[in-house]
Amino acid sequence: MNLSTKILIGLALGIIAGLQLGAEGTAFAKTYIGPLGTIFMNMIKMVIVPLVFSSLVIGCTALGDIKKVGRIGVKTVALYLLTTAFAIVIGLAFGTMFQPGAGMSMAGVNAKVAAKAAPPLMKVITDIFPTNPLEAMVKANMLQIIVFSLFVGCGITAVGEKADYFKHAIDGLAEVCYKIVGFIMTLAPLGVFGLITPVVAANGPAVLLPLLKVILAVYLACLVHAVVVYGSLVKIAGFSLSEFVKGVAPASLMAFSSCSSGGTLPLTMTCARKLGVSKEISSFVLPLGATINMDGTAAYQGVCALFIAQVYGIELTGAQYFTIIVTGTLASIGTAGVPGAGFIMLTMILTALGLPLEASALIAGIDRILDMPRTSVNVTGDVCVSLLVDKTETK
Ligand code: ASP
Repeated sequence: MNLSTKILIGLALGIIAGLQLGAEGTAFAKTYIGPLGTIFMNMIKMVIVPLVFSSLVIGCTALGDIKKVGRIGVKTVALYLLTTAFAIVIGLAFGTMFQPGAGMSMAGVNAKVAAKAAPPLMKVITDIFPTNPLEAMVKANMLQIIVFSLFVGCGITAVGEKADYFKHAIDGLAEVCYKIVGFIMTLAPLGVFGLITPVVAANGPAVLLPLLKVILAVYLACLVHAVVVYGSLVKIAGFSLSEFVKGVAPASLMAFSSCSSGGTLPLTMTCARKLGVSKEISSFVLPLGATINMDGTAAYQGVCALFIAQVYGIELTGAQYFTIIVTGTLASIGTAGVPGAGFIMLTMILTALGLPLEASALIAGIDRILDMPRTSVNVTGDVCVSLLVDKTETK
């Protein structure tokens, strides 16, 4: 049986077990089944920093010249932003069609939600450059690690022969990391089971039903984005949708259950390589994608912004729709690939729109359920863009 089938079985068994345990069994699920998932995620996280560093350095040296690194960088970021903007528009379309907030009231909701202020753009840019690369690694600050690795890679290329030993050592480190990921992935089905069971137990039908329309709108927006946008892009890259789905499934399923594109990264890289993306492209495009490309999150923000406006009976203007698209696309860059990060960014968009934040407390209760499809789409989008960049480069 291949890995995706096994992961799918783990997921299905987790859902069944969660439903059986129900609300009363949540504590049991969290205490005794959850740790399976936590151990699995810990092991994956253990390998992320050395993996990203070594593979990015080697990817960069393999590209050969620094101009090429720049060209691929620009192409990659442009594709990421473009797909994200599409995703928000699709989210807005589903929010308009489903009207999930119509007829809902805020009675009974008195939770306070704190707004996240948008950091000034210049601060975002300066923070990408690390003062201390080891600190960046200790804190797993991905953007800073990416910048440092690019410098090391370009440095090795510029130095040439004298840096050969160093380059071989890093190459060895990258290979060892890939092997470790392989070992850990054999446990993925168990890990997925451990991750999903407590979530389903805690979010039984009683929690989900009142907000069914929001959930449906987010799931469908994610699905449509994947089928329409990724479907077209992979076709351009010379793949059929079914080939792509088969190749990307292990990563998408793991993202679905772990809600972390950062945590899924090692598997995302393995899947892209299996689909034929070269080592240098995948090791460059995917760590970047796990950090800045969040299409599912963008679609979710489109639906949720409309939901909240509808709860308060506020008609949004054309300018406000535009604000959602622009702030949402930019916010997706600053969204960390960790569980729940998209919700924090949602409060930023609401603030930009001048909408009251209290209604997002309704979303907070079901956010984990919405995090699953959006993370899955985030990761799928990364692989899709890597296929496209690879295709244009090899041509
Ligand atoms: N959990 C998402 C991710 O890791 C981010 C989000 O919360 O939207 O990709």
